[in-house]
Amino acid sequence: MAGTDYHCPHCGAELRGDMRTGGSRPGGTPGCPYDGLAFASLRAGHDAIYFGPWRRIDALPTEITRGYHRIGRHLDAIGRELAIHDLPAAVRDLNDAIRAHRAADPREEAPGGLLLMDNALSYAHRAIDDLLHEKGLPPHQPMDFAECYDVVEVPFRDEW
Ligand SMILES: [Zn+2]
Repeated sequence: MAGTDYHCPHCGAELRGDMRTGGSRPGGTPGCPYDGLAFASLRAGHDAIYFGPWRRIDALPTEITRGYHRIGRHLDAIGRELAIHDLPAAVRDLNDAIRAHRAADPREEAPGGLLLMDNALSYAHRAIDDLLHEKGLPPHQPMDFAECYDVVEVPFRDEW
């Protein structure tokens, strides 16, 4: 992990660069691109996993294990948010995510484990979009934030 990364004090997003200039977007305002957005910490949490090293073709086993645990923590965070909403569709999406995540446990060396992790993250994304939809907001678009991350490649489909 690069020593220059830092976490946004507001939403916890992992941002590159130093505190003064990190996260600034070309032509935009400096700082964290998630701040001020609804469910900023869930979006940032999703994207840190979405653009994480475990999705690279050449990911190391430790990176895959770390990604697996991060997905688990992300699902916990979504669960805490859903606990204060009445969104049955989002709860269904979260439950689908939890099921995929359990089946993907790298310790079990489950066949298709990476794809199951990807499925879990996609369901998590749907749950976040359900929360946004309730507020009348457009879906979360990870690619809008890609420049905050060291995007190498995304081997799986974006959405389905
Ligand atoms: Zn932030």
